[in-house]
Amino acid sequence: MIETVARWLQESQNAVAFTGAGISTESGIPDFRSPGGIWAQTQPVYFDEFLSSAEARREYWRQKTICYRDFGDAQPNTGHQILAKWEQAGLLQGVITQNIDGLHQRAGSWVVWELHGTALEVMCLDCERRFATEEMTQEYERLGEPPPCPICGGILKHATVSFGQALPADVLASAARAARQSDLFFAIGSSLVVHPAASLPQMAAESGAKLVIINRDETPLDYLAAAIFRESIGEVLAKIDRAISPSFS
Ligand SMILES: [Zn+2]
Repeated sequence: MIETVARWLQESQNAVAFTGAGISTESGIPDFRSPGGIWAQTQPVYFDEFLSSAEARREYWRQKTICYRDFGDAQPNTGHQILAKWEQAGLLQGVITQNIDGLHQRAGSWVVWELHGTALEVMCLDCERRFATEEMTQEYERLGEPPPCPICGGILKHATVSFGQALPADVLASAARAARQSDLFFAIGSSLVVHPAASLPQMAAESGAKLVIINRDETPLDYLAAAIFRESIGEVLAKIDRAISPSFS
């Protein structure tokens, strides 16, 4: 099956990858949704609470700072690196990701549709200017409370999509277009249950793309898949990469 998928990749005109938490757990970043994890016991701050309550904003910044300090320096792994390599070799159009860790870009991917935003930036809800999370986290630690926007004094929030907050419409629309136009679609490390993100692989398959699922557990879209791998993401991608004929690598 590895050789078959490698051949599909070389023959494809429009291959796209879609990634979820599973690709980053191999970089030591926990799947925040997985039951039993420490983050499953932390009550997330919903977007409307964030907007209406200074207390909720303090709790939000407390949680986000712990998370950023724990995982902000995680490094890309083999999985991220191979997807970046395929894009640079012209084999992959880009990566649609549910992750907020920026590891695809750090690995060298150029086209990344971040459905849930990025933890590496903080955004002002008033003037929409963006700042490096590192800089604003230092400011938070210095002040002991959420920092105001340095430009307009407005409310700063991590540039990630909170519970109860809509996905960025422009990113979702571009990702949906890429999914529909793809002829080969890799769904990697995602349980494919969180919508609307999980509808993208379905859209791709229903538009005629071969769907390749690489995920530890079964997914609701397995019935649509042309190939399914349940092993380590890095190992599967490395095997496919080795099976690509030398003229492509
Ligand atoms: Zn501002």
